[in-house]
Amino acid sequence: MNFKIILASPRWYCAGVDRAIGMLDDILEKYGAPIFVNHEIVHNKFIVSEFEKKWVVFTDNLDDVEKWQIMVFSAHGVAPSYVQAVADKWIRYIDASCPLVIKVHKEAKKFIASEYEVIYIGQHNHQEAIWVSDNDPEKIHVIANEADLEKLQFSPTQKLVLLNQTTLSVDDTKALISKAQEKFPQLELPSFSDICYATTNRQEAVKNILPEIDKLIIVGSKNSSNSVKLKLLGQKFWKESILIDSPNEIASDFLEWAKSIWISSWASVSEDLVQSVQKFLESQGGLFEKEIVLTKEKMIFPYSLELK
Ligand code: SF4
Repeated sequence: MNFKIILASPRWYCAGVDRAIGMLDDILEKYGAPIFVNHEIVHNKFIVSEFEKKWVVFTDNLDDVEKWQIMVFSAHGVAPSYVQAVADKWIRYIDASCPLVIKVHKEAKKFIASEYEVIYIGQHNHQEAIWVSDNDPEKIHVIANEADLEKLQFSPTQKLVLLNQTTLSVDDTKALISKAQEKFPQLELPSFSDICYATTNRQEAVKNILPEIDKLIIVGSKNSSNSVKLKLLGQKFWKESILIDSPNEIASDFLEWAKSIWISSWASVSEDLVQSVQKFLESQGGLFEKEIVLTKEKMIFPYSLELK
C-alpha cells in the first residue's frame, strides 16, 4: 500500500492559543499550583491533560475555588456575569481570553450602548457565543442558521448590527449574512469580519488542496468546533475525512485504496501530534511528498500576567 502524504500549512497554534497556553505555563511557574481554569484553556484534550498533571484544575464551578486562589479565564473568553461572580467571591483572576474574542465582546457592548440590537451568528452551544450573548441576552440574538434568522422580527427603524463567532465556516457565514441583509436592509456590518485570521487561513489551506487529494485527516478534538468544520469542509468536497485526536484512531480500512492523504489540524493542536500522525502513516506505506504553505502567519499577542 503506497500513498502520498501532504501537509497543509498553516495548521499549528494560532496567536490566541499560543498566548493562552504560554500564559498558563508562566502563571504556574510564578504563582504555583493549584491554578484553576474556567472551561478548558483551549479545546484540546492532550493539552488539558498535560496541565492536569501539573495540578491545574479545569472547572466552571466556583464552589471548587477558595477566596484568594487564582483562576485563569480560557482563550474562548468569559461571560461578564461569571467575572462578576469570581470577583464577588474574592477569587483572584487573570484573563487569558484571546484578544480577538475580547474585541467582539467590546463591539457588542459598544453597539448596545448606542441602542443597537445585535444579530450574532454563532453556535448556540459554543462557549464563545454563550458568553458574548451574556453581555445583554435581551439585545444579542444568537442565530446559527436560516431557521433562527426567520424567527427574528425588528421594526424597520431599529438599528441593527451583525457580529459573529470568531471560529465559523467562512462560506456558510457569508451566505447567512447575505440572507440577514435581505431580511433587514438596515443591518450594518462591522468594518472587519469577526471570523479570525487563523480560522480563515486554516479553512483556505484545506480548501485549496482538496481537489487534488482523496482522503483528509484533521488532527483535533471532537469538542473543537473548528476541527469539526475542517472535517466537514472535506466532506463537502466528497473526500473521505476523519477527525482524530491521535494516530490510534485511524481505522485500517481508511487507508485502503488511498492515493494521497492530506493532513491538517486545528490551531489548538501541537505540531508533535501532527508529526505522530505523519510517522504512523509512513509506517503504513505512506510517503511524505510535500507541505503546501498557503500563507505565513506572523500574528503574536503579548502576555499579561496581571492579577485582578
Ligand atoms: S482561533 Fe482565532 S479567535 Fe480563536 S484563539 Fe485563535 S486567534 Fe483567537
